[in-house]
Amino acid sequence: MKAAVIRDSVDGYVDIKDVTLRPITHGEALVKMEYCGLCHTDLHVAAGDFGKQPGRIIGHEGVGKVIQVADDVDNLKIGDRVSIAWFFKGCGHCEYCLSGRETLCRNVKNSGFTVDGAMAEECIVDANYAVKVPEGLDPVEATSLTCAGVTMYKALKTGETKPGQWVEVVGAGGLGNLAIQYAHNVFGAHVVAVDGNPDKLAAAKKDGAEILINRHDGDVAEQIQEKVGGVDNAQVTAVTKDAFTQSVNALKPDGKLVAVALPQGDMELNIAKTVLDGISVRGSLVGTRQDLAETFQFGAEGKVHPIVQTRRLDEVNDIIDEMKANKIVGRMVVDFTK
Ligand SMILES: [Zn+2]
Ligand SMILES: [Zn+2]
Repeated sequence: MKAAVIRDSVDGYVDIKDVTLRPITHGEALVKMEYCGLCHTDLHVAAGDFGKQPGRIIGHEGVGKVIQVADDVDNLKIGDRVSIAWFFKGCGHCEYCLSGRETLCRNVKNSGFTVDGAMAEECIVDANYAVKVPEGLDPVEATSLTCAGVTMYKALKTGETKPGQWVEVVGAGGLGNLAIQYAHNVFGAHVVAVDGNPDKLAAAKKDGAEILINRHDGDVAEQIQEKVGGVDNAQVTAVTKDAFTQSVNALKPDGKLVAVALPQGDMELNIAKTVLDGISVRGSLVGTRQDLAETFQFGAEGKVHPIVQTRRLDEVNDIIDEMKANKIVGRMVVDFTK
């Protein structure tokens, strides 16, 4: 079967190769992929930014149908549509796995990084960790919810978002557009969207953002304080460290800054504001299986629609170049059904 494999030189690109997967073993299932999205995390993995993994099949935004299950698997059956997410599995017995914080497991396995991923015609999953895709959810849209969707749904929970509050979404790209939709349509919050690209701000308005701020037009935090008296939480999805520093100043007292993007370097924190205003800074990383199931359900109910477009497997390196050039609005999804 064909798969997108990290090169021996780990140069940030992949080769499309014929690969034979090992047979499945206890607790596993084999999935025939239908669709898999390509994400910035895949670019980091292909470039060795998190550690070199030459020969690894990339991909962690996969959706497909089960075609084989091990004898001891009873929660999946042939024909079930399941997802392959970045959180592939935890150890199942540490304090994090046992207390609803399984993505923080120190022995976590990640699809397309520490185990072979979903950018392939077939993929092996752990049946206990493959979250089912509900009926009524478009499988192409489901690929984006598997990663960006659950990441932002969880980050909004981490920010303790409540109905009627104001949320700042910094960066209106692949993560940001879903943050806006979940904040507005699921959590019932008001949204300020911040980006430097007018097209992305126009898309943010369609997604439900009520206030749009171009970060090139003056001090963002000052404008937010002036217009709405600050925000209850800020969701930082932009890959510049300045965005983190500025967002602290846009918060109301008891505000929460939720760090989602991963730019290199350190953020600066205004100590006086942090102390006097009781500011919290929290990191948020993908989501648990339960978070993903909830993320999917809201998608199936039509409350969120990721921007997706399908491509062919042999175009993956072209997509990588387009992503590096920041040419893409939404997600490119490889279609394995044709
Ligand atoms: Zn991803
Ligand atoms: Zn664990």
